[in-house]
Amino acid sequence: MAGIATATATAMTHAPVAGYDLERVREDFPILAQRIHGKPLVYLDNAATTQKPRVVLDALASFYATSYANVGRGVHTLTSRATEAYERARATVQRFLGAPHPEEIVFVRGATEAINLVAQSWGRHHVGPGDEILITELEHHSNILPWQMLCAERGARLRVAPVNDRGEVELEGLTALLTERTRLVAVAHVSNALGTILPVREIAEKAHAAGALLLVDGAQAAPHLEVDVQELGCDFYAFSGHKVYGPSGIGALWGRRELLDAMPPWQGGGGMVMRVTFAKTTYQPPPHRFEAGTPFIEGAVALAAALDYVNLLGRPTIAAWEDELLTLLTERLAEIPEVRLFGTARHKAAVVSFTLDGVHPHDIGTILDREGIAVRAGHHCAQPIMDRFGVPATTRASFGLYNAPEDVEALVAGLRRVREMFLG
Ligand code: PMP
Repeated sequence: MAGIATATATAMTHAPVAGYDLERVREDFPILAQRIHGKPLVYLDNAATTQKPRVVLDALASFYATSYANVGRGVHTLTSRATEAYERARATVQRFLGAPHPEEIVFVRGATEAINLVAQSWGRHHVGPGDEILITELEHHSNILPWQMLCAERGARLRVAPVNDRGEVELEGLTALLTERTRLVAVAHVSNALGTILPVREIAEKAHAAGALLLVDGAQAAPHLEVDVQELGCDFYAFSGHKVYGPSGIGALWGRRELLDAMPPWQGGGGMVMRVTFAKTTYQPPPHRFEAGTPFIEGAVALAAALDYVNLLGRPTIAAWEDELLTLLTERLAEIPEVRLFGTARHKAAVVSFTLDGVHPHDIGTILDREGIAVRAGHHCAQPIMDRFGVPATTRASFGLYNAPEDVEALVAGLRRVREMFLG
């Protein structure tokens, strides 16, 4: 893989991002060096999950080799070491999200579990018959189903703000659906299917003015945008470690301290209690109240290594680099007449969803795989937004911090081959 200098000569129509040493970044990711079906791997499935830098692999290995024990429950040296590392990881997540207090960070399996936690713990106690939860048409199933289940259980109503033809959520459309019965608004920060960046700060203001809380599903935002929950003004923020170069099975929920303090536990087990008797049990304060059982200790430690890595490169730099790739791919796809883009929002992150008239997305994905190119084909766990645009599935290319202009060119060349095979 050539570095930025060569790439600029061959493909880039835009100035490279100052100080971004792509070649070195790519060397940090061992998996990228391999060939798939004899071709260099072109990994463009980053919205599904991201590859891991060596610092994350090393953090896992070194934690197991030197510091592994269960957390919070013992007096021996290794348990203290593991507990310190686990709590340090919490502080790293706190800083990553701009959260005021480490106790506001709850480790969970990922964005899905974070949202379910809020639905079950907060939701069951604050949402009653006739109340409303407001989401948008572009949500991932993880930010639909927990609310649908809660509404069914509590006799509440799920309302859905529309998106326009560009795939944007218009503030007026959303605001029009806020009522005095709205208890919570739950929106993606970035859409995984369309790439749309939602105006979260403005939505927070509107939600609060209506007396509702705001939960933000940050699964797709955390790897691409600088997130500051205080600046965004939201009440809950959820993300998954595996989409931000960390392990799968670990993620975090941030919640305002006063909200978490008032929330009951949602799972019972070890590590989250003060005192258990058969007559009465008292619980730990947050975050431990919400972390029943042995957590994914090494996952949290490796997630912290991933977040440190991302911070070292700098999120504004990463975003600028990915924006270059997004612009390049958007321009190149416009040259193929049969390509139809889904999601042309003015504020958009590194996701390009498209169809090629006359070819099923699964066929595109399969043929591209033969070329070593990994893209996603399907409904992206966002079937309502596929319905909105009248397609069952799209092909999705999504960028990560290690993608290169050559990846864009390989994808476009692959699509031209697909086009020739199917359309002549
Ligand atoms: N929300 C969005 C916007 C997503 O893209 C995803 C993952 N595709 C999720 C939620 C769920 O994340 P996870 O499966 O890691 O819990």
